[in-house]
Amino acid sequence: MKISAAVLRRAHEPVMIEPVEIDTPWGREVLVRTAATGVCHSDLHVVEGQSRFSLDRPIVLGHEGAGVVESVGADVTTVRPGDHVVACLSGFCGSCAQCLSGHPNLCVGGIVARSDSAPPRLSQNGRALWPFLAIGSYAERMLLHENSVVKIDPDLPLDRAALVGCGVLTGVGAALRSSGLEAGQTVAVFGCGGVGLSIVQGARIGGARQIIALDIFDPKLETARRVGATHVVNSANEDPVKAVRALTGGAGVDHAFEAVGNTTLVRQAIESLGIPHGREPLPHRHSPVPRVLSPGPPVARRDGHPPGAARRHQ
Ligand SMILES: [Zn+2]
Ligand SMILES: [Zn+2]
Repeated sequence: MKISAAVLRRAHEPVMIEPVEIDTPWGREVLVRTAATGVCHSDLHVVEGQSRFSLDRPIVLGHEGAGVVESVGADVTTVRPGDHVVACLSGFCGSCAQCLSGHPNLCVGGIVARSDSAPPRLSQNGRALWPFLAIGSYAERMLLHENSVVKIDPDLPLDRAALVGCGVLTGVGAALRSSGLEAGQTVAVFGCGGVGLSIVQGARIGGARQIIALDIFDPKLETARRVGATHVVNSANEDPVKAVRALTGGAGVDHAFEAVGNTTLVRQAIESLGIPHGREPLPHRHSPVPRVLSPGPPVARRDGHPPGAARRHQ
């Protein structure tokens, strides 16, 4: 089937809308009509040449997509045509050591992408293109493994559901699952983009008593306040570490999250931490243990399958 897709050929070049051939779904694959896609900074990392994703062939970027299942391969059992789905960048195999130990987000099975020797999912004049992170949502259709989609309630608006595919799960997951946040603790969030705002919301859901949001843009800080931040700091105007210390009575926060992927902010986040209460082993009695969670740059194998958890992806 011919579709239109946004194709990147080389880093630093414009992304162009071009006709692309998308294969029919085989086996456990699902063809999804894309209704909406987010634009994540990880896509921009690839455009700006800052990603480790292979550029040995053109890429259809986009990994925060939602849409409607149009057709399915013969072995698909979990969705059917007409189902509304969100593309999931943590596709899993269900049988590798990571999946079997309860960590499908760290799956190393590699089944959600086609092998290099198989006909490509996306092509132009017989030449293969990569769907970014085995998704490629900057396209009218996405050809995905059924373990790379999550069925959702059809009442959910697809333009908002798409954002759950990356930013929301990265941020909320960091707050609720990765950090060990306990109700009543204090939190600082460095960077209030899609991931940072989701961390703020996750911290609120997790019962944090103080959520300090930091950014250099006031409109983002206003949004952070609307979604649950108890305090906001514009770090362009004041020293963020001193501000966090002042807001916590000098103690520092229990958890600091860096949601930009910037080493300066990672350092500020570490310096904003309080001294832990003894759960973690301390390298030095008065040294704050780095309990900073940073999404970091995307890690992807050559076949486009993301081997890491959402927290390792920005
Ligand atoms: Zn993303
Ligand atoms: Zn697996």
